[in-house]
Amino acid sequence: MAEHFQPETLAATALGREDETTGALIPPLYPSTTFVRDADLGYGRGRVYARADNPTFDTAADLLTALEGGEQTLLFASGMAAATAVFLSLAPGDHVVIPKVMYWGLRSWLYDFATRWGLEVEGADTADLDAMRTAIQPGRTKLVWLESPANPLWNISDIAAITALARHAGALLVVDSTVATPVLTRPLALGADIVMHSATKYLNGHSDVVAGTLTTARKDTEAWARIKAVQNQNGGILGTFEAWLLQRGLRTLFPRVRWQCATALDLAQRLAALPQVSEVLYPGLPGFAGHALAARQMQGGFGGMLSIRVAGGEQAAIATAAHVRLWKRATSLGGVESLIEHRASIEGPSSPVPPDLLRLSVGLEAADDLFNDLAGALAQARSP
Ligand code: PLP
Repeated sequence: MAEHFQPETLAATALGREDETTGALIPPLYPSTTFVRDADLGYGRGRVYARADNPTFDTAADLLTALEGGEQTLLFASGMAAATAVFLSLAPGDHVVIPKVMYWGLRSWLYDFATRWGLEVEGADTADLDAMRTAIQPGRTKLVWLESPANPLWNISDIAAITALARHAGALLVVDSTVATPVLTRPLALGADIVMHSATKYLNGHSDVVAGTLTTARKDTEAWARIKAVQNQNGGILGTFEAWLLQRGLRTLFPRVRWQCATALDLAQRLAALPQVSEVLYPGLPGFAGHALAARQMQGGFGGMLSIRVAGGEQAAIATAAHVRLWKRATSLGGVESLIEHRASIEGPSSPVPPDLLRLSVGLEAADDLFNDLAGALAQARSP
């Protein structure tokens, strides 16, 4: 089916598969942890043990493979389990280039754990191609990690251009595409080797599953075999029920993301006109540094994430978050409910995030309700 239909159709129908035994429209859930061996000690039906292989994974994994245009997808217990599996598949002493602005949990793991484990971790401004030319060293750099748009300043990286630099250096190029989703960007088509998602966010979309994914452009590579071995041996697989929920969430990915993009753009434009907002960070605004690149690299929208800087400073930002009624004060992103978060107080002193910044994850509520609630909170935060 994957060759004939558009991505929207593949997602809505979860590849159009039916359960052959029962005719059930919705794929079954297989809780079995083990699979029957043949009398001759073979495994003719292909499955052995659920840590390596679970048929409930197939729908979500194969659908994501089709949406990303790759050859294979692995489902992990979290986005962090997926991302760290990539780095743990390298060898101590390997040099990796990572963004200066990226999801802070992974950045912390890289500087706190991966460096002690032996990786040489170098932070670079991935939005600056000259800086990337200097950071990526032929013969030395083994992996380049990108996140675009990158949390929570939404910097855009030129995936195709940086892929070319990584190729020349003999390094693997991996993109955390959590915020873009396959609706807006397909990193593998731009040359990346692997695309990673925190499926906790848009892919599942309902704030009720923690999950992560890796999709590879080519499955017959040594790098992918090493990553698969890390997953199987470390055991960071997704739970069966979570995998089933993920295939359900993926079915509505396209309409959710498109609605969220439209609302985010509308809010970005309206918030930029408010006196209490000193800056709106959103790739869809023409004044945003990465706008031209985002317009080229992202198709059909600029994402459902934006950040605002509050003119009154840190205290006014915290007070704004305290005064909202519709927006929920919570971390995470990509769900159907809109979330607001003061990032600096979550990320701690090493964070590059300004203290007056509020991160907004736009859900599926009416744009007017979201705007009125936030504009009211900004006005209240200002008054004594
Ligand atoms: N990558 C990005 C861009 C994220 O926002 C997150 C979580 O916030 C992660 C990775 C980590 O994913 P998880 O929380 O599913 O482990």
